[in-house]
Amino acid sequence: MKMLVQTAAALVLLAACILPAQAADKVCKLAIEGNDMMKYDQQELKVAGDCTQVELTLKHAGKLPAQAMGHNWTLVQTADLAAVANAGMSAGLDKDYIEPGDKRVIAHTKVIGGGQSTSVTFATAALKKGGDYSFLCTFPGHSALMKGKLIFG
Ligand code: ZN
Repeated sequence: MKMLVQTAAALVLLAACILPAQAADKVCKLAIEGNDMMKYDQQELKVAGDCTQVELTLKHAGKLPAQAMGHNWTLVQTADLAAVANAGMSAGLDKDYIEPGDKRVIAHTKVIGGGQSTSVTFATAALKKGGDYSFLCTFPGHSALMKGKLIFG
């Protein structure tokens, strides 16, 4: 069985080498806003199953500075949401409230304040179709309100 898995993996690698990169690559763009009311403007984001990369842009539509009402956009498996938020709390603003090296974090933007925007690009290879994914803001206390689901597939 292990041999079969390895052979399959080798075939996938081979296919990835043979196929032209342009034909296989599809960058899908997402946009979400946070505000001074500690809210995102969307509770659900959808990524089509044929997207290979996601470029997410986070805009802070408020006026408050990052120290008071900072927001980021962090993608995790839903089961890890509370633990990632807890770990990030003590990391501090200069670490974007993400524990350094936290493997549970699939992707994240930096923390921004009112009037700013930022983006992150990540590969969907890290996601399983139909998996249970959530996004959150890891600024201390924000994930109670600032969270939503990301649907892939
Ligand atoms: Zn926030």
